[in-house]
Amino acid sequence: MLKHKYITIFCISILVILSFLSFYSEVKWWIFLLLFIFWLGLTSWGSFDIRLGYFIKTYCNNPEKERKIAISFDDGPHEMTEKVLDVLQKHHVKATFFCIGSQIEKHPEMFQRIIQEGHVVGNHTFTHTKSFGFLSTQKVVEEISRTNRIIERLSGKKVLFFRPPFGVTNPNVSKAISVTKHKVIGWNIRSLDTVIEDETKILERVKNKVVPGGIILLHDTSLKTVNVLEQLLLFLQSENYDVITIDKLLKIPAYED
Ligand SMILES: [Zn+2]
Repeated sequence: MLKHKYITIFCISILVILSFLSFYSEVKWWIFLLLFIFWLGLTSWGSFDIRLGYFIKTYCNNPEKERKIAISFDDGPHEMTEKVLDVLQKHHVKATFFCIGSQIEKHPEMFQRIIQEGHVVGNHTFTHTKSFGFLSTQKVVEEISRTNRIIERLSGKKVLFFRPPFGVTNPNVSKAISVTKHKVIGWNIRSLDTVIEDETKILERVKNKVVPGGIILLHDTSLKTVNVLEQLLLFLQSENYDVITIDKLLKIPAYED
């Protein structure tokens, strides 16, 4: 939580200086308000944009600029994961799946297939609750640990990658990660495939954002993403991209030994 800490120290220092000055001359009240808005604005922005690494170190790409790229799928395993796996198999591509613990319990056979076909898995909490940003440190630890135990039981693997739901980070998530010792994995190419309805628009959006060393965020939860994936793989092939898993892209281990 480096950046957040420095910004907070900076704002408190300004506050102390302003308070000190106010003993000698009038300091307008709106200057204090402006300072608070500045702090609050940066804190909110830092919570929602995982690429900033505002509260915690996040891995969102490999800056080395080799023509390598990783595709990640969030929120499965799901009925649609089977079709995603078929497309990946057809193109001989390995991807990274950030799985929700409760979804693994619903589709254990699909989870096993992800592992058997050589893809990498990461932790995406147990419930993927919409109120993730408001959970206590203890609750975040529980969400992560529960899913880690399920994955270990089904695959024997101790997962080191964690992706927070909605890419939300804050001081509690940061504290939880220091307990569970996971690496926080983000993305730098967001498809918005859960928001945009038009497949062509999703594909064009991703194509325009493709960069060497990038991590693409997709969701294995809809048919439109399956169709986009097929086209995207053909595009990446034509652009001579090597599509690899996140551990290989970032050169960090996905599992504990
Ligand atoms: Zn998610």
